[in-house]
Amino acid sequence: MFQLNENYLKLPGSYLFSTIGKKVAAYSAAHPEEKVIRLGIGDVTQPLAPAIIKALHEAVEEMGHAETFHGYAPDLGYAFLRETIAKADYQDRGCRIEADEIFISDGAKSDCGNIQEIFAPESRIAVCDPVYPVYVDSNVMAGRTGEYDAQTGTWSRVIYMPCTAENGFVPQLPQETPDLIYLCVPNNPTGTALTRDQLKVWVDYANSVGAVILYDAAYEAYISRDEVPHSIFEIDGARSCAIEFRSFSKNAGFTGVRLGFTVVPKDLKSGGASAHSLWARRHGTKFNGAPYIVQKAATAVYSEEGRAQIRDQVAYYMRNAKVIYEGLKEAGYEVYGGVDAPYIWLRVPSGMTSWDFFDYLLETAHVVGTPGSGFGPSGEGYFRLTAFGNYENTQEAIGRIRALGR
Ligand code: PLP
Repeated sequence: MFQLNENYLKLPGSYLFSTIGKKVAAYSAAHPEEKVIRLGIGDVTQPLAPAIIKALHEAVEEMGHAETFHGYAPDLGYAFLRETIAKADYQDRGCRIEADEIFISDGAKSDCGNIQEIFAPESRIAVCDPVYPVYVDSNVMAGRTGEYDAQTGTWSRVIYMPCTAENGFVPQLPQETPDLIYLCVPNNPTGTALTRDQLKVWVDYANSVGAVILYDAAYEAYISRDEVPHSIFEIDGARSCAIEFRSFSKNAGFTGVRLGFTVVPKDLKSGGASAHSLWARRHGTKFNGAPYIVQKAATAVYSEEGRAQIRDQVAYYMRNAKVIYEGLKEAGYEVYGGVDAPYIWLRVPSGMTSWDFFDYLLETAHVVGTPGSGFGPSGEGYFRLTAFGNYENTQEAIGRIRALGR
């Protein structure tokens, strides 16, 4: 008789967004006259930029002619895109990254979920708390996390690094030594970011204990402060201890188009084996290449007009972030994030849990956000609002919250 992978049975249900969905549906059914504004889910709302649409049309046209038709793409990505990325995102910033260290994929979620496969089953992982749930869940599926304690919402073998207002949302070096350290900068959900000096501490630590930093920079395009690095490879020593994930979802609106990439430097070695060759092997075996038309569209992101257009889109979302941040602050809330990321993280009023505040906001302001406890135990007492809505709705939502007073 077959047996299923029991590790999957240990996963708590995808409680967060389904519970939010049910609560909002129930509320809307009972109050059809109310306009509910959703600032909960991290999906973009602006259409693709004209330069990207033009590149897509041209690539589709090429696919219609035998001379310019493209079949399977190279597993690791087309050279035209890998070279463009290596130059624009790394070499022009002074990072020593070559095109053949860049692996094109269908998005950062796949890569940061799959990367754990190239590491030993007994690897200990460390995660920031709160954080994007994919890091822990993908290790649960691989049986690397021990047992779940429903009371505390923690896994016995996972090293949690609390990031709260008390430590300025900067993870402290753990007491137990991990093998794999997930860092998400700028951070989802807190919207905060590590500076170059803060990241250097982690790079030095990882090199000294022989750990790997799995660095998720999906929100890199939103960085506004000079002291926040755009890549971990801006930090000396990162080539021997870091892998970086990037996405076209949030900088260029590719959430429905799908494209991302992962940088695995050739210096990242354990014994005689290199992470680069294992990831190339894994990618080549399990992934058949991202679509030609999408890789062409991604290349347009780096053209002069593409850059200008996506800069405007990021600015549009960051104007929303400012409306949310300043509006909540003026309303008396304790607010974080929103400067280097499209997420605003606020402390819920004392005496309320994250879910109490969710209900309160839905019922009184008809605004939907995400309870912080859904991102990890240290997210309790916090709440996430996203800047990905449209400007008018964002303004209206914040106006309603302000009108409630504190
Ligand atoms: N990493 C983080 C931190 C995210 O928040 C998200 C999406 O919300 C992703 C990765 C997924 O990116 P992609 O759309 O490229 O799969």
